[in-house]
Amino acid sequence: MASIYERNGLRRVINASGRMTALGVSTIHDETGKALVEAAQNYVVIDELIDRVGEMICPFTGAEGSCPTANTSAAICLSIAAVMTGPNIDLVERIPDTRGLKNEVIIQKGHCVNYGAPVTQMIRTVGAVPVEVGHANKVIPENIAGAITERTAALLYVKSHHCVQKGMVSIEEMVAIAHSHGLPLIVDASAEEDLRKYVALGADLVCYSGAKAIEGPTSGFITGRKDLTDAAKLHYKGIGRPMKVGKESMMGLVKALELYEARDQEAHCRELNAVVDRLASLLEGLPHIRVGKSTDEAGRSISRVRVDVLPDCPLTAQQIGDRLKSGNPAVFTRDHFLNVGTIFFDPRPMLPGDAEAIAARMKEILKG
Ligand SMILES: *Cc1c(COP(=O)(O)O)cnc(C)c1O
Repeated sequence: MASIYERNGLRRVINASGRMTALGVSTIHDETGKALVEAAQNYVVIDELIDRVGEMICPFTGAEGSCPTANTSAAICLSIAAVMTGPNIDLVERIPDTRGLKNEVIIQKGHCVNYGAPVTQMIRTVGAVPVEVGHANKVIPENIAGAITERTAALLYVKSHHCVQKGMVSIEEMVAIAHSHGLPLIVDASAEEDLRKYVALGADLVCYSGAKAIEGPTSGFITGRKDLTDAAKLHYKGIGRPMKVGKESMMGLVKALELYEARDQEAHCRELNAVVDRLASLLEGLPHIRVGKSTDEAGRSISRVRVDVLPDCPLTAQQIGDRLKSGNPAVFTRDHFLNVGTIFFDPRPMLPGDAEAIAARMKEILKG
């Protein structure tokens, strides 16, 4: 059946790319959808809901405090606002005017990524100033410690496949440097699957997407030190207002977290591997390509279909990727390695029937 998007004049999209904001991130479970609709059809005192949802997030992360947010970007903004103002409502109402406040946020050069928007812009949004340290491919602990001044508000660590994966200062070292200077470490763990790891490592605030690994509705959360997550909530009376998180998103997030934690990870991996095997076998035998499987470059437990375009192919991998994207259905692949002739298909966002549709498009393109 045609999707709601197709019925409204949009192309069918096959997402074999990943949890991409540009494609709608993920799809929610029916039970999450039910919770979301019921929440949307009722009233609640929003401040009480924010507090309660914060409490309900904590058992999933092992932290003492949490704050629901509209998305990870809002979580980063509100985390930084929180470390600058603390619980002072007068300061909260002044942001993004940070005159007189500690407002510098130290970030490694190799972490200054654009995930669809620049992470450093989230720092600036709340009036803070990003201080980029080290070099794009090499940062040493001395670069971090050397940048700390009486103006420093926090250190920010970005855990992501977008970042430079080698030569950066580790999260453990960042925690140690931050704490030895009495500063908080904020971690952007937007797409990470492990909701406990960074809290357990001693990060003061950790920012997650509710829609990426957790497959909830558009949402996010901050989890960590309670004094700081409480301060983050206060910012909903200030700069956080345009980042308002809906009541339905909050209840959908809680349901998605329950489902995520209850999920049998091994069975889930087996299902994803079955999708990988199915797509690989459908592609096997098409001309001009070699089909294989690969693991994730950022070390997550994700296996993907790997298609190497052979030298005898009249099309480059880039051209094949472009044709896949521009067709109807539009097939989006993981295109980080198109330039070296490799196309990856990610099974996580694929829906039933997608493997067959991808194979059919690949056949048309390669035999065309
Ligand atoms: C996706 C992503 C974000 C932004 O997440 P939103 O929930 O879309 O705001 C931030 N940081 C990293 C590392 C990301 O991958």
